[in-house]
Amino acid sequence: MDHFQLRNGELYCEDVPLAEIAEAVETPAYIYSTATLVRHVEVLQSALHGIPNPLIAYAVKANPNAAVLATLAQLGLGADVVSGGEIQRSLAAGIPAEKIVFSGVGKTEAEMRYALEVGVFQFNLESLDEADTLSSVATSTGVRAPVAFRVNPDVAADTHAKITTGVAESKFGIAIDDAPAAYAHASALPGLSIQGVAVHIGSQLTNLAPLEQAFTKVGELIAKLRSEGRDIRVADLGGGLGVPYNPDLPHPPSPEDYGEMVRRITRDWDVRLLFEPGRLIVGNAGVLLSRVVRVKPGAAHPFVIVDAAMNDLMRPALYDAWHKIDAVRPTGEQWTANVVGPVCETGDTFATARKMDRTSAGDLVAFKTAGAYAAAMSSTYNSRPLTPEVLVDGSSWAIIRPRVGIESLIAADRIPDWLKATA
Ligand SMILES: *Cc1c(COP(=O)(O)O)cnc(C)c1O
Repeated sequence: MDHFQLRNGELYCEDVPLAEIAEAVETPAYIYSTATLVRHVEVLQSALHGIPNPLIAYAVKANPNAAVLATLAQLGLGADVVSGGEIQRSLAAGIPAEKIVFSGVGKTEAEMRYALEVGVFQFNLESLDEADTLSSVATSTGVRAPVAFRVNPDVAADTHAKITTGVAESKFGIAIDDAPAAYAHASALPGLSIQGVAVHIGSQLTNLAPLEQAFTKVGELIAKLRSEGRDIRVADLGGGLGVPYNPDLPHPPSPEDYGEMVRRITRDWDVRLLFEPGRLIVGNAGVLLSRVVRVKPGAAHPFVIVDAAMNDLMRPALYDAWHKIDAVRPTGEQWTANVVGPVCETGDTFATARKMDRTSAGDLVAFKTAGAYAAAMSSTYNSRPLTPEVLVDGSSWAIIRPRVGIESLIAADRIPDWLKATA
């Protein structure tokens, strides 16, 4: 459930009409609902009832805005980070280091040193080479790094290829069959302190079966590692639970069903469980608000040309993602249209032959479920200003990232001396 609902025939975010925000900050703009963020956290927490002291480490890459992180920090969430920058952002937003998990295949020595200095909860290692490097960085810093290996259980996640991470040929993790040797190797390294096992098989999963298969393999691995003398106290089950983008498709499994499965599979593990949800927390807490520039006739269907483009919302171009597109003031009339942005790429297409609210030039539309992997991936391609973000809380709203205008973009470039005479 989200807090973007029609009231008196127009779309609101909580108690604020979206049209009011569009008037003030112009479009395109991302709008987030605090009440939806809070609700998603509470739904997940309650779905995990009975699990002692779980650490919910929000996957910062899904939406790293400082105000979003601060909202989640206040609710007690930790952070799953994939760069030194995300550690800095998380700390700045009030997430304590002891709730930060550092994932990623390409951690640099500088990032490792920084993470050790601030004292993150766990490093999720993805290769033996990384283990060696972390050990030597930790030794030179005079500390021991708390580590888990991210294991690759070789299960197909049944999602888009670009967000599948747990199959054998994936760049992520180490093959689960190689894990005992990897832990033996790591246990001999002076700078590491083994504490856990981690797994994350992909994103936007719409079926619990691959997760259950992966967790079952992790449970077997934990028993094997313990039998070989490894001290396993933490199991990081990753993120990946899908959210409903298209209300006409079967809903992804509920957090409640996920929690039930996790309780069942992990009952005898005797570990602290760690979760890394991203999309589940922020996906449906955001919309991308956009205005129709014009409508152009098309061979099969009209083109609704909106002022948002693939640089603002990359998911359709990158993942063939489907976002519901609703009129902010629907007339009740529907039509079939293509929705495209102004960028000079055919990939700048949000919807093809879409049955949707009929709209005309000047109308506002909302791209739903645009809180995750949306603003986070936005760019200024085609010299388009960086899209602003707004957070709503009840009847209040605030700009949480202003639009970065073209003057700032030009000012960020530098003309070398040899061009200055002519520029
Ligand atoms: C991206 C990512 C997540 C979050 O995935 P969601 O599908 O947004 O829940 C969690 N853990 C790791 C290691 C990730 O890379």
